[in-house]
Amino acid sequence: MKLTFIGTGAADWDWKNFPPGTRGSTATLIGASCLIDAGPSVLRGLAAAHVSPARINDLLITHSHSDHFNKEAILEIAAASRRRSLRVWAPPQALAALAAVVPDGAVEAHPVLPGDNFRIGTLRVVALPANHATSKKDEQTLNFAFSGGGVRLLYALDGAWFCTWARLFLKRFLDGAPLTAIIWDATCGATFNDWRFSEHNDLKMISAMREAMLKDGLVSPDAVHVFDHLARTLWPASQAAQQRLADRFKGILAQDGLVLTLNPIKKAKQ
Ligand SMILES: [Zn+2]
Ligand SMILES: [Zn+2]
Repeated sequence: MKLTFIGTGAADWDWKNFPPGTRGSTATLIGASCLIDAGPSVLRGLAAAHVSPARINDLLITHSHSDHFNKEAILEIAAASRRRSLRVWAPPQALAALAAVVPDGAVEAHPVLPGDNFRIGTLRVVALPANHATSKKDEQTLNFAFSGGGVRLLYALDGAWFCTWARLFLKRFLDGAPLTAIIWDATCGATFNDWRFSEHNDLKMISAMREAMLKDGLVSPDAVHVFDHLARTLWPASQAAQQRLADRFKGILAQDGLVLTLNPIKKAKQ
C-alpha cells in the first residue's frame, strides 16, 4: 500500500503566503487514486507531488473543519476530467455543505456514518468515530481504517484518544489481524498537558494508546507509526528538533511529499 503525504500541517500554518518550511493542509493519498481530505492547500500539495487531480477517483473527508474541507478545492478536483464523477465519501453534514455549491452530477456523494464498511477499488474501508467535534450540529468526525494486500492501516486524524465505538468497530474490521501502520494526529507534539487534550494528541498520549493497542492485539509490534497534522505553534520550529522528537517517540515524522510503501509484516520465524 503506497501512501503519499500531500500535506502534513494543522490549521495554524500560513497557507496564504506559504513561507519556506510551511506544511500544507493535511491530506494523504492512499494508493494511486484515493485522497483523504482536501483543505486550502491541497492543489498546491498535489502539484508538488506530481499528482494530477484527474487521477483522484475517490475523496474521503474526515470532517468539515476548514483545514480538511475546502469546497473550492474540491470543486476543482471534481472538475478535472475523468471517466466518471468524483466519488466523495464524507459525513452527511459536509456533503450537504458541498451540495450547495457543486454543480449537479459533478460529484457522486456517499454519506458515511461511524461503523459503515465500504469498498474503494480493492481496498476495504471502515469509518470510525473520532473524538473531535466540529461546529456543525450532529456532525461526527470520522477516522478510517483500510485493508488491502495484507496491509492494514489506521488513519487516525483529526482526533484525540480513542472512542469505545472506534475500538469495537476496528476490532470487528480487523478480525484478529493487527494493524500494519497508524497515521496519528500528533498536533501537540511535545507540548504536553495542553488544553487541546480533548481534541488532539501529544506524543505521550500516542505512546499510551500505542501500548494499550499492542496489548489489545490491535496493532503489530512491528507496525509503522507516523506522526502527522503537526501544529506550527506546538512543535519545535527546526526540522532537526522535530526529527529528534519523532525518534524519541519511535515514529516517522510526516513530511509534505513523503512517500511510504507499507508491506505486509512477515511473522517472525519460530
Ligand atoms: Zn485539522
Ligand atoms: Zn479538525
